Amino acid sequence: MTDVLVRGATLVDAVGERTVPGAAVWVRDGRIVRCGPERDLSVPADRVDVDLDGGYLMPGLVNMHTHLSLSLPGRAGEEILALDAYGLALYMAAGARRTLHGGVTTVRCVAEKDHAEFALRRAIERGEVPGPRIFTAGRGLACTGGHGHSSTDTLECDGPDGFRRGTREQLKVGADLIKVMISGGIAGEHEAIHTPQLTGDEMAAVIDTAHAWGRKVTAHAGPAPVIEEAVRLGLDCVEHGYQLTEPVVALMAERGVHLVPTLVVTRCGEFFDELGVPPWMQRRSLDAGPRHMGSYRMALAAGVPVMLGSDMPPFWQFEGTSATVRELEYMAEGGLAPYPALRAATIVPARWLGAEHDIGTVEEGKLADLIATRDDPTRDISALRTLNWVMKGGEVVRDDRRDWRSP
Ligand SMILES: [Zn+2]
Repeated sequence: MTDVLVRGATLVDAVGERTVPGAAVWVRDGRIVRCGPERDLSVPADRVDVDLDGGYLMPGLVNMHTHLSLSLPGRAGEEILALDAYGLALYMAAGARRTLHGGVTTVRCVAEKDHAEFALRRAIERGEVPGPRIFTAGRGLACTGGHGHSSTDTLECDGPDGFRRGTREQLKVGADLIKVMISGGIAGEHEAIHTPQLTGDEMAAVIDTAHAWGRKVTAHAGPAPVIEEAVRLGLDCVEHGYQLTEPVVALMAERGVHLVPTLVVTRCGEFFDELGVPPWMQRRSLDAGPRHMGSYRMALAAGVPVMLGSDMPPFWQFEGTSATVRELEYMAEGGLAPYPALRAATIVPARWLGAEHDIGTVEEGKLADLIATRDDPTRDISALRTLNWVMKGGEVVRDDRRDWRSP
């Protein structure tokens, strides 16, 4: 048993909207024993000190829309599709390590190929490979020919019985939530963003089955009428929400339905070029950008709870930072002030996942999933670009600063 004192930091409390200078966090066995002003902590003399040299300390980020096995149409995607099972697992493990090093200590996977993320999760939990904590939907559920059908990260189902079975198959392997594609999107050649894809009884079959098992449902969703129907059927979360309207955001707010806007997916031409994504998909994505941002702003104004999610690989280097940080910057540009942005990246996802007793804030008893930045994120969320230190479960997994001694 080693006591570690992470000290010399300004602690960022996004819930209380305050910072605590001269703060320290006492960690034992991967969890936080005490935290607050260092002078108030009586830490054992026999301990290891980690001095953050005045950095800003906060909980690890939670990325709520992750695909570690993403393969988009085009050259790079085809290379991923050509991987065998071993190659795919190693590729995903590399992505998991880079995700963690980017300050994302928890991800919510919303459609991964072949249930490979369950093996990855076990390997991470056993300490065999570094990576974030994983909550996963297993394979996403789509109708025949529906959004994402061209790869094994989705499962094609039809009719209420088919969707009930698809839901149960994900629960059987240990899915924490269910992801369902209720409309078209950007990456499907033969669909449009506004294409409705599921019937009401199919959506109800997914939602009712998942809820009976105590699991939430999130939906890939673009157009307002489909979203409205799903929300009335009990949907818990909307991904993208490209084409929201005032009545729908009002309904979402009233019912506490969360939005993961994934704003980067309609403003990432550079990323698409790098991957060799075909022109039809690039055009559809970038053309959807203005309405997408407008929908997000509308949701914010209505009080819909929003959460960080990149859709792009969380670690991807994009416009000078990671896709995760760039997404949070876009959320800020759309009207989210720094403290709410930090909450959208930490405690709000933690609560949605039912994991708020373990993650999402720096508090006594929680897991020591911590990150530090050089600059102050409460003034400008872009300070996350100066991330230089990451701890997961009490173990330092990244430190870019000099004069650093690992405990
Ligand atoms: Zn996605």
